[in-house]
Amino acid sequence: MTEQNAIANYLKFTGNKQADIKVALVDCDGVLYDSMKNHTRAWVKLMKKNGVKCTRDEFYLYEGMTGAEIIKLLFKRLGKNITDDEAWELYKVKGRYFKELGEPAMMPGATQVLTTLKEAGIKNVLVTGSREPSVLERIDKDYEGLFAPERVTAEDTRRGKPSPEPYMKGQLKAGAKPNECIVIENAPLGVQSGHASGSFTIGVTTGPIPEKELYKAGADIVYADMAALAAALPTLLEAFKAAKA
Ligand code: MG
Repeated sequence: MTEQNAIANYLKFTGNKQADIKVALVDCDGVLYDSMKNHTRAWVKLMKKNGVKCTRDEFYLYEGMTGAEIIKLLFKRLGKNITDDEAWELYKVKGRYFKELGEPAMMPGATQVLTTLKEAGIKNVLVTGSREPSVLERIDKDYEGLFAPERVTAEDTRRGKPSPEPYMKGQLKAGAKPNECIVIENAPLGVQSGHASGSFTIGVTTGPIPEKELYKAGADIVYADMAALAAALPTLLEAFKAAKA
């Protein structure tokens, strides 16, 4: 898929004449940080302690849902319908397990992606289903000056991804129309959310989920990782300027 073709397909699908990109809506886990390995490990530990059978790989498929949604879904395996409050209490325990595993590394290429976007006059806005304070606090330090103050976290949305709500909230907070935003996502549910929000959605395969799954979820274009996106970004931004439906 070339950048030109991806944009032409996007314009055709959405019925937009052009896409003047002003905002990048950027996911956190698996995009800014190589944190998914630790998240899946912490999830399995929480579930095992509570007698819920699960595998580590399935949590890559739930990425983007809120913590409470994931917990409520898995506790149904025990025949239990737990409340939101109970789920958020359990999520705190998962957060402790996650923290015990140490700080995840910054994703290679992410700084370059954000810098290139900022230098092109594009506003970077964080959109994450996470409520994990240890990760959210680090972003201000690790990606200093690269993000706009507006951000969307689990606190801002009732429904997690794949609902379009998180990315629509991002568009609203940024004051931009869907066709003025790009979404950067690693998870199938996150890609679905971005796609459903009407913005051009870029997938990055930074985890075990293959490229074709992200295309199936609605990605307009997929790159192998954030470094590959950084390398292709100038071409992509030029192609947006040139594209007219
Ligand atoms: Mg992610």
